[in-house]
Amino acid sequence: MKLINNLIIQIIPFLPKFFVKIVASPYIAGITDNEMLDNVKKLNAQGFKVAIDILGEHVQTESEAKEITDRYVSIYDEISKRELSANISMKLTHIGQDLGYDVVKKNLYDLVRAAKKNNNFLRLDMENVPYTSETIQLYKDMFLEYQKIGIVIQAYLHRSLSDIKDLSSESFNVRICKGIYVEDPKLVLNDYQEIRDNYIRLVKEAIKKGSYVGIATHDEYLIDTLCLWLKKNDIAKNKFEFQVLHGVPIRKKLKKLMDDGNTVRVYLPYGDNWYDYSVRRLKENPKMAGYIIKNLFSSILRLR
Ligand SMILES: Cc1cc2nc3c(=O)[nH]c(=O)nc-3n(C[C@H](O)[C@H](O)[C@H](O)COP(=O)(O)OP(=O)(O)OC[C@H]3O[C@@H](n4cnc5c(N)ncnc54)[C@H](O)[C@@H]3O)c2cc1C
Repeated sequence: MKLINNLIIQIIPFLPKFFVKIVASPYIAGITDNEMLDNVKKLNAQGFKVAIDILGEHVQTESEAKEITDRYVSIYDEISKRELSANISMKLTHIGQDLGYDVVKKNLYDLVRAAKKNNNFLRLDMENVPYTSETIQLYKDMFLEYQKIGIVIQAYLHRSLSDIKDLSSESFNVRICKGIYVEDPKLVLNDYQEIRDNYIRLVKEAIKKGSYVGIATHDEYLIDTLCLWLKKNDIAKNKFEFQVLHGVPIRKKLKKLMDDGNTVRVYLPYGDNWYDYSVRRLKENPKMAGYIIKNLFSSILRLR
């Protein structure tokens, strides 16, 4: 499989863009705000809550960072106007984290104010290790302004248990995911099962301290193990939710989760950066190539 993944990555730059678009399209909710908002409405009608993400990261100029910030601000207004059940989940490097602490902090503050005005929630995605501590610091700074804000903790990082212990409280809202970036092997757990075990440890630790946890994974072993633990420990359903990426084919599992009264939130990326984003992600994490092919085949099978 590794060989196939690497081969796909080598040939991607030579494939016609429309082909990459077909393959990537299940993951992406359109290019324009309207396309995305229509998709949010459809997902809400199916019982899902949504986390909206404009595709992109690492902007190079303050004006780009401001443009993205303003676009997010207007999305908060649209969510309210259209009475959608959705919040925003975004990357700090998309609103200027590479341009200095003051730049990103100012833009983030504008976003937090828009979230507050609309009584909505804001999640800061977690990027790679050079940004981890600063993301946590910005989260702490903004929490003083508005408490409906949350971050992400990655189960593959050695530091995460200590971060969870430090941050968890009744007002902490955290998404826990495995982690998608290729990191220095010394900083991360490298064994698949060890990452799963740490994931479970982090969820339990956060929940025990009263935090709200977004369980973000498609790993059915994790979903099943945690469902059992949550039930056995009588954890109220308003203390956690399940989160998945748009397009990952685990619909049956999601339906079962919702039938059992759980909240399921779909992370919905969209925007004109879809091509660069898809290619960069594939290069960063060759495993994604395998998922996409698997997904393509399952779409073909569904069509037959
Ligand atoms: C809602 C959400 C938000 C996230 N936010 C962040 C973040 O802020 N920072 C960060 O570093 N990472 C983030 N991630 C990515 C996450 O860290 C993992 O890399 C990703 O979810 C794959 O891990 P997994 O837990 O699904 O387990 P895996 O073991 O990778 O996958 C389990 C099974 O799910 C299927 N699967 C998983 N991903 C896909 C896919 N893309 N397409 C098709 N099938 C797939 C595969 O069949 C696989 O066997 C997020 C993930 C989700 C779901």
